[in-house]
Parts: sequence; C-alpha cells; structure tokens
Amino acid sequence: MPATPAWPPRSAPRLFVPGPLSVGAEVILDGGQAHYLGKVMRVAPGDAVIVCDDLTGEWACAVASAGKRDVVLTVREQLRVREAVPDFVLCAALLKKPNFDLVLEKATELGVATIRPLVTRRCVADKLNPERALTIVTEAAEQCARTALPRVEVPVKLDALLRDWPQDRTLFFADEQGGAPAHTAFAAHGGTGALLVGPEGGFDEEERALVRSHPQTVAITLGPRILRAETACIAATALWMATAGDWSFQDS
Ligand code: SAH
Repeated sequence: MPATPAWPPRSAPRLFVPGPLSVGAEVILDGGQAHYLGKVMRVAPGDAVIVCDDLTGEWACAVASAGKRDVVLTVREQLRVREAVPDFVLCAALLKKPNFDLVLEKATELGVATIRPLVTRRCVADKLNPERALTIVTEAAEQCARTALPRVEVPVKLDALLRDWPQDRTLFFADEQGGAPAHTAFAAHGGTGALLVGPEGGFDEEERALVRSHPQTVAITLGPRILRAETACIAATALWMATAGDWSFQDS
C-alpha cells in the first residue's frame, strides 16, 4: 500500500503574513504575495501553502481561491509554534549596500535574534532603508523556514550603543588586531551573546579603545587573516551558533 503523501508537502510555498493566525482563519493575500503564489507558484484551490505570522508560529493552509489580484487561504492546522530564537545580537557597522544586504540575509539564515546596524566613523554608508531590510530578512526567513523574523533595528552610533549596553550581555568585539580565540570566548559566556564588527575600513584607534574599555567587551580574534566585514559577521555568527546557539539541535 503506497504511503499517503505527507500534507503539506515540504515543497509548499512559505510566506510571512499578518497574524494572529488560528484554525479556520481566512488569509487574503494581494500585491506581491498574490503574484508570487498565483503567477510564479501557480497555486490552485486545494493546494497547500505554509504561513507564519511571527507571533503564534507556522500554519498549514489550503488555497481557497486564486484570482487575478488576490489569493485567499484557509488556515487548516498549526505545524509549529514560533521558535525560540537563539539570543544573539549582531551589531554590524553599515556597509556598502550589497554587502550589508548579504549580512542581513546570512544573519537571518544563521538564526540571529536581532540585527543592530551601527554607524561608525569609517562607515561608507550611514543609513539603512527599513522596508528594504525587512523584505530581505523576511525572504531569507521564508527560504530557511524560520518561524520567527529577526528584528532589524534603527542604526545607532557606536558611542550610543556602548553607553546603553546592558550589563548582562557580553559584547564580543571582533578585532583584527587580536583577541581571545572566538570559540573559547563563546563557550565561556553562555547562551546570550552579541558580536561587534566594524566597517570596510575598520574602527579607528579611538573607537577601538572605547570598545575595549567597556566592561562587557570581550575582544576576539577570527584568525590571522583580515576578513571582509561581511565575512567576519557570517563566520563569527556561525561559530557562535555552533558553540552557544542552536546548532546542537537534535531532530525530534
Ligand atoms: N582594519 C582592517 C579592515 C577592517 S575588516 C584592515 O586593516 O584592512 C572589517 C571588520 O571585520 C573589522 O573591523 C573587524 O571587526 C572584522 N575582522 C576582520 N578580520 C578579523 C580578524 N582576523 N579577527 C577579528 N575581527 C576581524
């Protein structure tokens, strides 16, 4: 007897939609989301779509109708509750747009809770388009099947970041001039963390001294080579996830 195919299929499209969702709720999608489902994925009534609301979690829906302008879904069942996101804050200096876009996307895939863009003296870019950033992290979250979106905060200046830094959170300062081995530092500081990475031109000496003088700062090295800022963000975040994050996750 052939096994009944699993529903929803793992290949079902995934979208973040406004919540809160519940069984029987109707989700009406228009604009880009309707176009994606209707024209790109060519869904038909009865097809499965997986939606998350970044509040309650992940739900399986069935397409009720797929018109020219909108697609209507009916929520059938909850698949997962909203995940517990590893408590990691990526404080990354703003970079040239394509490179910071990469940081937004990869940090989302890697599982960070918050992305806190920084403005430092050598930043080439000094602003971030919030709508564009939200689109990038939402698409990345849909692709990697997160049930929770990372928070993307408004860019802050380095001195404000340090002034307001909480006493209960270590700030791992990625310093190409040297520091503790990252793996050892991450393992020693438990399940909450934050990483500080500078811009293309790095921190100037005054900024470096300010960061190192902060009581919560732990300087870490990412090896003997000078990494691009986006590489440092991605590599250090991956290492933290493997050491103190949720990469030891055992499939239930
Ligand atoms: N000042 C560097 C350029 C900065 S690299 C130069 O001499 O050209 C951009 C950022 O990546 C740095 O500010 C630092 O936060 C991080 N970074 C790069 N390589 C690193 C390393 N080997 N160890 C720790 N952090 C590093």
